Amino acid sequence: MRVAFLGLGAIGRPMALRIARAGHQLTVWNRTAKRADDFARAGDIAVAPTPMDAVRDADVIVTCLSTSADVEEVLNDGVFEAITHGTTLIDCTSGDPATSRRIAARLAAWNVAFIDAPVSGGVKGAEEGTLTVMCGGEADALERVRPVIEAFGKKIVHCGPVGAGDAVKAMNQALLALTIWGTGEALVALAKLGVAPQVALEVINSSSGRSNASMNLFPERVLTRAFPRTFRLALLDKDVRIAAQIARDEKVPSPLVQLAADLCTLSHVDLGEEADHVEMVKVIERWGQAEVQ
Ligand code: NDP
Repeated sequence: MRVAFLGLGAIGRPMALRIARAGHQLTVWNRTAKRADDFARAGDIAVAPTPMDAVRDADVIVTCLSTSADVEEVLNDGVFEAITHGTTLIDCTSGDPATSRRIAARLAAWNVAFIDAPVSGGVKGAEEGTLTVMCGGEADALERVRPVIEAFGKKIVHCGPVGAGDAVKAMNQALLALTIWGTGEALVALAKLGVAPQVALEVINSSSGRSNASMNLFPERVLTRAFPRTFRLALLDKDVRIAAQIARDEKVPSPLVQLAADLCTLSHVDLGEEADHVEMVKVIERWGQAEVQ
């Protein structure tokens, strides 16, 4: 298929590369043109000077930008009119359901299908093609573009109508933030008590308190003090605020999700735009005056 990919950020790059390597005819566009030029050197990949040029002849368009508002901004800048009727747009941004529904309605008027398809599994999962992809939209539209999604996704789940993928992703992110923060509190307190984090994790990871945070993120990123920058805290902050908004809109008691959103925002403000999400732990360490290492 002819695929246009818009947004070559940390996770967009490996996803786009896998689409090209799966044999699809790939054209990319990125706001910062140098990133697209550097990326295209990886293979037989065309770079479009504008998003309009990228989408013009595409069968499938994939967007992977920071927020749904960014997707809407790019589409509003002449792209809606350039998309061919019958095309499908797969939005892999971790977006917000309300904006996705608005974009889908506008595209439907052009006979263009929209699927919100946020991903989970990180940069490593994108490189290995093992991402989980949570999709919202029409089932038949998803089947048409499944070969493109399969280039980077291993578990592809149809969650419901447009916006359902975004909603599931946002709630997953709230759970991620809660487990990082909770594990951080536990390990800082135990470190002050004299229990080494390696020892604490040995117990927790074979007990009922374990999570992806305790099993993978803390051993690989915190105890090593590596804190690789793979997923910006600013993006996790955005995700958890979406989750908090969904819970409020649905009138579900959600003190933990609201708190997780606040903890992400205060850590984001404290640590800045480029901090990785796992660096939230540094805030607990500073307040608790002990390091997890
Ligand atoms: P990055 O911050 O690395 O990249 C963001 C991308 O969006 C860049 O290509 C950037 O362009 C582009 N962009 C942002 N705003 C605009 C705009 N207004 N107009 C045009 N382009 C814009 O983000 P990631 O790649 O990490 O994340 C992308 C999405 O995937 C996010 O929604 C994130 O939450 C989600 N995600 C990320 C994961 C990860 O591990 N990194 C894991 C799962 C989901 P430019 O290069 O010009 O700045």
